Amino acid sequence: MSETTTAAAAKNPSANPTTPIVHKKGQVDPASLRHRSLRTDEFWRRIPGWKDVDEATFLHHLWQEKHAITSPARLVEAVQSLASPEFIKDVEAGFHQAPMAVRISPYLLSLIDWSDPYHDPIRRQFLPVGSQLEPDHPMLTLDSLHEQDDAPVPGLTHRYPDKVLFLVLDTCPVYCRFCTRSYAVGLDTDVVDKVSLKATDERWERALQYIAERPDVEDVVVSGGDCYRLKPDQIRFLGERLLAMPHIRRFRFATKGIAVQPMKILTDTAWTDAVTEIVDKGKKLHKDVVIHTHFNHPNEITGITQRACDLLMERGVLVRNQSVFQRGVNDSAEVMTELVRKLSWVNVHPYYVYVHDLVRGTEDLRTSVATGVQVEKRVRGSTAGFNTPLFLVDAPGGGGKRDMHSYEMYDRETGISVYTAPAVKKDQYFCMYDPLSGLSARVQADWQDPAKRTQMVNDALAAAKARVI
Ligand code: SF4
Repeated sequence: MSETTTAAAAKNPSANPTTPIVHKKGQVDPASLRHRSLRTDEFWRRIPGWKDVDEATFLHHLWQEKHAITSPARLVEAVQSLASPEFIKDVEAGFHQAPMAVRISPYLLSLIDWSDPYHDPIRRQFLPVGSQLEPDHPMLTLDSLHEQDDAPVPGLTHRYPDKVLFLVLDTCPVYCRFCTRSYAVGLDTDVVDKVSLKATDERWERALQYIAERPDVEDVVVSGGDCYRLKPDQIRFLGERLLAMPHIRRFRFATKGIAVQPMKILTDTAWTDAVTEIVDKGKKLHKDVVIHTHFNHPNEITGITQRACDLLMERGVLVRNQSVFQRGVNDSAEVMTELVRKLSWVNVHPYYVYVHDLVRGTEDLRTSVATGVQVEKRVRGSTAGFNTPLFLVDAPGGGGKRDMHSYEMYDRETGISVYTAPAVKKDQYFCMYDPLSGLSARVQADWQDPAKRTQMVNDALAAAKARVI
């Protein structure tokens, strides 16, 4: 040991290379590292209808498409005796009341815990059951974010100064019960006739023309529907047209696919190659092209997901995640922390968590803003800041995304929070409403009375206006 090192060790014993290191932070409970355990078993073989399906078959994206569950009959065919006749009856009732068509991939269906489907977080998101449905909030409207009001051409919403949302098609590999775009996405249901947003040349040209005519737009969300449903040539076409516009600096392909059918990244090589090609072309032009995806629960992330995300990472494709905060799915700090850390483990950046929008037929999935505030407080600090999602309210009425904590006022008794969005819609106020089931019986009754309802909203707006400088 040199003289200098000896002197340093005398001053600070922990610098001495021969002294055992004292760990100031206690050893972690192995349970807190659960996010690193990714299942690699053939979990789909527990489903009686798929017990003989080998790995190569299960991983093929076309097999996944062909065996998607779209009706109670197909559900029974797959799960057979795993689900009780009472549960199947309950699902049938749910199908009839759902604003979204039902479609769930074999991948997701196999990840449901069939010993307790009522409480399973994946089942809750995709298979409605009649007995759990709650009446809609009286302030709910079908297109609660007013995407159509802010659309200069069908399927192109221009709300933020430099960004547009381009809904390129209206189909998805699965249909989520809670889809904000239940006004347009998927097939008509017993309760909703959908607005058509088909992938037609004419509609795309109108949207691309609008973007070309707007030098103020720099950012495009290419969404739908779901970009998993685009053909490789369509990805190239859209990508090249957007990259050719000098003012477009960045765009994202939005797909829930990585969460619900990750094997497509591995086996639909033409699709993955097309995305990679556009990302590479973007890099050469110094433009940012990424994928935005949508995981909501840690159980959705498996060894198959990791293989898909590894491939995307090798190809240089960045993936960000946007979750929806849902009751009985991810509305606890434990689940949300595990989700955030599991996403980070497979190199997906947790970007946003949205408080559940006001969507028809999903009151049983909504949470209050207060629950979000509590959970966010406990998630923040559990990992690096760039891997910590921002919790948002997408303000009903078209205010856009607001930091959940930035309400001008929040009356927890009536469940009304009021937001402003000065950079989006100056001088306007936007109300968000907590689910009725968490409010007192008296306030729930007041919400059913049109006069009292108007009074509660007016009082909340007046209080917010009094506070805004
Ligand atoms: S994948 Fe996205 S667009 Fe499609 S149903 Fe789900 S939330 Fe809606």
